[in-house]
Amino acid sequence: MKRHELVKKMLDGVDFLEMFTRYVKIDTQADPESKTFPSSEKEKDLGRQLVKELTELGLADVEMDEYGYVYAHLAANNGSDKKVAFLAHMDVATDCAGNGVKPQIHENYDGSAIVLKDNIVIDPKDSPQLLECKGDTIITSDGTTLLGADDKAGITAIMAMLKWFKAHPELKHPYISICFTPDEEIGKGVDFINLEKVNADFAYTIDGGFPNEINYENFDAFSATVTFTGVSIHPGYAKDRMVNAMRYAGAFCDRLPKNMAPETTENREPFIHPLDIRGNAENVTVSMILRSFDIKDIEMEKDIINTLVDELRSENDKLKIEVKFEESYRNMHSVLKDAYYIVNYIEEAFKELNTEAEIHPIRGGTDGARLSFMGLPCPNIFAGGVNFHSQREWVALENIAFAAALLIKINEQIK
Ligand SMILES: [Zn+2]
Repeated sequence: MKRHELVKKMLDGVDFLEMFTRYVKIDTQADPESKTFPSSEKEKDLGRQLVKELTELGLADVEMDEYGYVYAHLAANNGSDKKVAFLAHMDVATDCAGNGVKPQIHENYDGSAIVLKDNIVIDPKDSPQLLECKGDTIITSDGTTLLGADDKAGITAIMAMLKWFKAHPELKHPYISICFTPDEEIGKGVDFINLEKVNADFAYTIDGGFPNEINYENFDAFSATVTFTGVSIHPGYAKDRMVNAMRYAGAFCDRLPKNMAPETTENREPFIHPLDIRGNAENVTVSMILRSFDIKDIEMEKDIINTLVDELRSENDKLKIEVKFEESYRNMHSVLKDAYYIVNYIEEAFKELNTEAEIHPIRGGTDGARLSFMGLPCPNIFAGGVNFHSQREWVALENIAFAAALLIKINEQIK
């Protein structure tokens, strides 16, 4: 792959390897069982380190607050009054061991399978992106833990951007706000964020996967709870009197459209997913999640559920069924479509680096989606890593540098 001049220069001028490996060695695994915030106190160890580095780089109002959020700002030097924020999360996933990360450096990668401890193999057959990284420096864990490129590659890219601006004061940028967040992996990344401290008009999370991924669409997410109440009576005397709620709940699940399930859909296709059923003959609750990229499809899914419920009600007039829908989160596209210039800056920055953005809809939610609805529109940009939340997680150092270069170019677009 032909590498842009800026990426090459940044690889020469910034010690990406030293930064990234130092960050991943700091244990910041979140704790889903915890009642405190941040969920694990050790997340602040990385926060303290970043506060020190941001201060050394000359940023203003550098602080870590009681919740573990790190804030810092860099004044504009381009005369623009626009204010942009860059965010990345400090915690790592809880899906596998995340402490004692021993980063392994595979220099001048040759395209073959990478074998780690415990027979953990990262094979180009399963990870075809590896073949795009021949000659690069690949970083993995030793196979006993995750790596933590999610999202320490994002943190590295942001810190490298700041180092580059410090070393090249002639480069133009607007007012920049930095925010490093805790507990993203347990869905709480923006629970205690202080948007006054962030102080920006729009933002970017650097928390996506392989280049050139960007995301500005995610699921519209609702939950549905259907409660079946039957009539319970001694089974010896039940003829024509008992109504067994379990039979109707079972029929309900069975009649949900099978071509609209997580296991039968992909890309932008919507689904209804029954994920929990509990109860007894008298009372059963079925919990479902509804997902789509278009709010009209959520309405269609609600209709499907309501129609099925009416059908079952008509089969037994002693049966009671209650339906409840609740919004979980919304597609950030409904915010970003009216602020598309924010995505345009990314697309223009890619062009400056002689390549193009790849737009991926996220079949899930992101912190950026929540921020977008809190008033801070926030698409997501790749950080470089692959195989997140696994012992097979890997990243090419050159791709972190590419993310950093993209951030430099995004700043140049904001005038
Ligand atoms: Zn992440």
